[in-house]
Amino acid sequence: MQAAETIVVVNAGSSSIKFSLYGEREGELALLMKGKVEKLYTGDAYFVATGEDGVSVAEHRWQGAAISHETAMRFLFDFAHTHLDGRTVAAIGHRIVHGGTLFSAPVRLDADVLAQLERLIPLAPLHQPHNLAPVRSVLEMAPEVLQIGCFDTAFHTAQPELAQAFALPPSITSLGIRRYGFHGLSYEYLASQLPELDHSLDKARVVAAHLGNGASMCAIHAGRSVASTMGFTAVDGLPMGTRCGSVDPGVVLFLQSELKMEQGEIERLLYQQSGLLGVSGISSDMRTLEASSDPRARLAIDLFVYRIGRELGSLAAALGGLDALVFTGGIGENSARVRAAVCRDAAWLGVRIDAAANESGQACISAPDSAVPVWVLPANEELMIARHALEMQRKAQQKGGRA
Ligand code: ADP
Repeated sequence: MQAAETIVVVNAGSSSIKFSLYGEREGELALLMKGKVEKLYTGDAYFVATGEDGVSVAEHRWQGAAISHETAMRFLFDFAHTHLDGRTVAAIGHRIVHGGTLFSAPVRLDADVLAQLERLIPLAPLHQPHNLAPVRSVLEMAPEVLQIGCFDTAFHTAQPELAQAFALPPSITSLGIRRYGFHGLSYEYLASQLPELDHSLDKARVVAAHLGNGASMCAIHAGRSVASTMGFTAVDGLPMGTRCGSVDPGVVLFLQSELKMEQGEIERLLYQQSGLLGVSGISSDMRTLEASSDPRARLAIDLFVYRIGRELGSLAAALGGLDALVFTGGIGENSARVRAAVCRDAAWLGVRIDAAANESGQACISAPDSAVPVWVLPANEELMIARHALEMQRKAQQKGGRA
């Protein structure tokens, strides 16, 4: 990448588009600016961008007008034109939840690939269409710009076949019904960071817990995914802010047959009304629950911690042992209480926490006599995407140069 170029990372959800701009500084990618348009489709959308010092550089509100992804992308495009300080866009990297079985690595996005990714919408109907909307906008507005798709599933395609399989007949599994796993960009980033902190961890058996509104855990061996708690969809595994995590599939059948619930109602229950919110009846937000003296808030946190402990045992079994435990995500990075409780329950694996290091937010929170080092690392999916986009841009340039 030239000094006058930038990598743009786009992370589009159902009601927001987040972006980050990266430049190259002393051979490293450096975050220059980030921003977001939030509350799309509400009539109350707003835009804010902050510079590398975290200070706001621009704000905008659309009062009364319901803004779509396309309108937001046009706005961001115009914003970029006037705020890039003369830099040109080397590539745009997109976070895309599902790459299916087709994409096990970042890919250049063109109309054909976009059409293939649109066919995966049924596998992730709540995320995939929103992830793809900005790709289509850029293809229309600036088809010459290099766009790269980075997938939340890709890191997990390295898992052994058994870890990806359901015990269902081939007539069903051949339709793509299998465990995919998500949060892969977050885990890939952690896997790249650990050897920098301690080079002996490059071959290690690691369990990483990405605990945010969405929450999952991943077993990583020598930098590759071995197993994960999320499966066919991102509703599986741990309880989350509003998602239930694993439930017996018989529960869904019961909801249909006995409670006569429609599919939409069941989906709302499992995705939006369960997890920390559903159990507590108070909030999906860990900060609110930790501050509450209500026993239901306590129960929600206890269940969250209990299920993390169960999954930790299962993932350690998939790895055949445990050499390191890593926390990330909003809860993993900030809740000393959850980390302490998880580590207390993991004493049987040899985990010992240093209470002071945990409370004061150190990167390494295990006690010197812990058999398993415990790390707390900030999630940085955006940087992972920027790295991939830069690598793909370099490859494209080399190819162009040779042609
Ligand atoms: P997302 O999955 O939407 O990216 P985040 O990774 O931002 O979510 O995590 C959001 C969660 O992190 C919320 O439950 C929030 O309460 C929790 N969280 C953030 N800061 C703290 C804190 N200081 N203590 C406890 N929980 C926190």
